[in-house]
Amino acid sequence: IDLKADDLREIGELGQGNGGSVKKVEHVPTGKIMAKKIVLIDAKPSVRKQILRELQILYSCHSPYIVSFHGAFVADPNICICMEFADKGSLDGIYKRIGPIDIDIVGKIALAVLEGLTYLYEIHHIIHRDIKPSNILFNSQGQIKICDFGVSGELINSIADTFVGTSTYMSPERIQGAQYTVKSDVWSLGISLIELALGRFPFSDASSDDSDLSDLEGTLSPHRPSPLNRLSLRKEKAKEKAKKEKRKSKGVSLQGGGMTMSILELLQHIVNEPAPRLTPEGRFPQEAEDFVDSCLIKDPDARPAPKDLLKFAWIEAARTQDIDLEAWASTI
Ligand code: ATP
Ligand code: MG
Repeated sequence: IDLKADDLREIGELGQGNGGSVKKVEHVPTGKIMAKKIVLIDAKPSVRKQILRELQILYSCHSPYIVSFHGAFVADPNICICMEFADKGSLDGIYKRIGPIDIDIVGKIALAVLEGLTYLYEIHHIIHRDIKPSNILFNSQGQIKICDFGVSGELINSIADTFVGTSTYMSPERIQGAQYTVKSDVWSLGISLIELALGRFPFSDASSDDSDLSDLEGTLSPHRPSPLNRLSLRKEKAKEKAKKEKRKSKGVSLQGGGMTMSILELLQHIVNEPAPRLTPEGRFPQEAEDFVDSCLIKDPDARPAPKDLLKFAWIEAARTQDIDLEAWASTI
């Protein structure tokens, strides 16, 4: 279909992100329901044309694990991207509504994301660049699909010029300025899976209101600290608290609720501290722990690619496991 702005009737708001907003729309001539993403960019007409040209590759992306593309157009000064509408929304919304997601379903999610990433990379040489729960969509047929991948270099540049978004799903090597590779997507997948299984962002500090250290160990520092570290942790914690108060009074707060680290501290933490894990030990199947540990290997050269991860025991099990995702969809 040849999409025109005038043919779209707005039905509702689906959500708002850093770079724009997403609306539920009806394509009136065909009656088709779509999601329309409005990308706020401030670019020259020539750049906008280039972006539209680059987005055309989306027409050739066909996979059950990728949200399909219906078309894109310029709506001065923005760019609109129309895609398949997922009626159950994104996984961040789902877990925030229902709490931690059952580990067997998380296995199915891992499988779908890996299939999607492998398809994008092997067939189209595309790296996703923004894997996180809000970019993994779900529908009432029980399908899991990824969206918002970086097809247009020009669009990536324009967005980077327009706003500063700090992704906390970013891999240690990216934080340190290394090139984006498909391994960075794997890191982001690992963080996302822990978030879904625990029902909270793994770097957030759930104990922000009390001084109990146990939560901090479980979230920020996955390995039990030695007595010495415990002491310094306690000191750190006290410092952190003081800083938090200061931040509060300055009116600087971070998105994501109970987060007590500043973005800079968080990025430093990702680079310097051991990666988060599926905790507590023993709560989840060993195969799931092994898989997530491999996604979160800090050295990208040692970290497996999506194609390799498809062969992991947890993923092979997820593939053959008989879980009715359509039935699950009807409960959420
Ligand atoms: P960021 O801007 O940091 O990438 P985000 O992914 O949440 O964050 P958007 O991509 O603008 O931001 O999406 C906003 C919300 O709209 C998402 O969280 C998701 O819930 C919803 N959404 C996006 N695309 C679709 C879609 N195709 N179908 C249904 N809901 C969608
Ligand atoms: Mg998104």
